[in-house]
Amino acid sequence: MKTYDAIIVGAGISGLYAGYILKQKGLSVKILEASSRLGGRIHSLEDFNGQNIELGAEFIHGKNSVLGDLINYLDIPLQRRVGKSFIYYKDELINYVEAENISSLNKALQFFEDYDSYSGEDTGVDNYLKQFDWYKDTQSILASFGVEYGTLNKRLSIKSLSLEEKMWSSGSGDYEINTPLSKVIDFLAQPIKKDLQLNCQVELINWNQQTLAIHANNETFKAQYVLISTPISILKSQAIHFSPFLPNNYLQAIDKIRIDIGAKVFLLFSEVFWPEGMIELVGGKYCPVYTCKKTSSESNIVTAYLFGKEFIEKAENEKQIVDNLLNDLETIFGKNTASKKLVDYKVADWGKMPFINGLYSYASSGSNIHSSTLSNPIENRIFFIGEATSTNGHRATMHGAMETAENAVARILK
Ligand SMILES: Cc1cc2nc3c(=O)[nH]c(=O)nc-3n(C[C@H](O)[C@H](O)[C@H](O)COP(=O)(O)OP(=O)(O)OC[C@H]3O[C@@H](n4cnc5c(N)ncnc54)[C@H](O)[C@@H]3O)c2cc1C
Repeated sequence: MKTYDAIIVGAGISGLYAGYILKQKGLSVKILEASSRLGGRIHSLEDFNGQNIELGAEFIHGKNSVLGDLINYLDIPLQRRVGKSFIYYKDELINYVEAENISSLNKALQFFEDYDSYSGEDTGVDNYLKQFDWYKDTQSILASFGVEYGTLNKRLSIKSLSLEEKMWSSGSGDYEINTPLSKVIDFLAQPIKKDLQLNCQVELINWNQQTLAIHANNETFKAQYVLISTPISILKSQAIHFSPFLPNNYLQAIDKIRIDIGAKVFLLFSEVFWPEGMIELVGGKYCPVYTCKKTSSESNIVTAYLFGKEFIEKAENEKQIVDNLLNDLETIFGKNTASKKLVDYKVADWGKMPFINGLYSYASSGSNIHSSTLSNPIENRIFFIGEATSTNGHRATMHGAMETAENAVARILK
């Protein structure tokens, strides 16, 4: 039986990038992916009524990163996401400039800019905000803060958030590309295509012997190194067994790193009923954040972010989620604006996505320490990689996941 230099578990962006570099350096690599597709939490649906939608990751957060460099290398133009942002506040739709003249709103928006300077005791974002008299009035707007981090404010640790935000080094602004993100995934997968096995779920990693034995689909694969890139939700569910058990500090780190569930919902309308140029709307009563493309000629799609289990639990099925969103939009834009114009919808429920079962890790109490524990290889041969092991403030991002792959490969090659 062939012994590979490295086996990679999972073909999301971190697994594929690790495979891409290792292969370039001349190592023999095999990637085992449980699902029937590449990309993991990058999932381009290229023909949703003739348009591409990104069911998972979509925006490139800051362009000074390994992902920004790769996109440049692929000659894909990076476009800064600029446009008008609106707030639904006290039954009125207002823009950000108007919001600055309303004292409570202005203070709430200031929190979005200043939270990284927090230096007090550790507490939940919600708990921290409750002390301010402007919080009650602006709660539905501030809910969008948590959503951006993939959960509710009450579960986010303000101390960890500020710590991680201070480390952010990828630059400001959000960028997008006019090509499906799957093209980036395909590029990384190309050199390792023949060593990539889909529908191959790793169930057991035996690290008793010097050579690792990785069991998947009744087959055993042997390797010197294993790089495990599955989402933290998969490690939590113990879908992969380790023999012997993982050391206690790793088990604790897996337990303590937090991830929530939620859905991204795409609503395609026959015509635009929102202000021209609107790219973001916050403060909905049901959904805290909506985004749309800049011009109506680009797309008539509104994307709703229901990130956090409470949002999903409010509805029993997809139809109810969509009805709730249409009601929400009609509360904001007026009767008969949304429901009569709906052409199609797509609910990407990441809590139910096979082999993912969640959104992305978020800053919780001590999260950086736990991610740091997990990012340390065991005996320099078992490596955990992927967004939840990012320790430089880039957790929950595509480029953060890629950086963890780079770090692991650097240690292997040392
Ligand atoms: C809805 C949503 C929106 C997002 N928006 C953005 C955004 O705008 N910008 C941004 O930068 N980031 C965003 N992210 C985060 C980003 O997608 C992730 O940080 C990144 O893609 C994670 O990559 P990864 O390699 O760590 O993990 P994944 O992409 O999850 O890859 C892990 C792979 O492991 C596989 N796997 C699981 N179990 C097994 C097993 N037992 N055996 C073999 N394979 C297994 C999975 O199928 C998966 O393919 C978003 C994520 C979601 C869910």
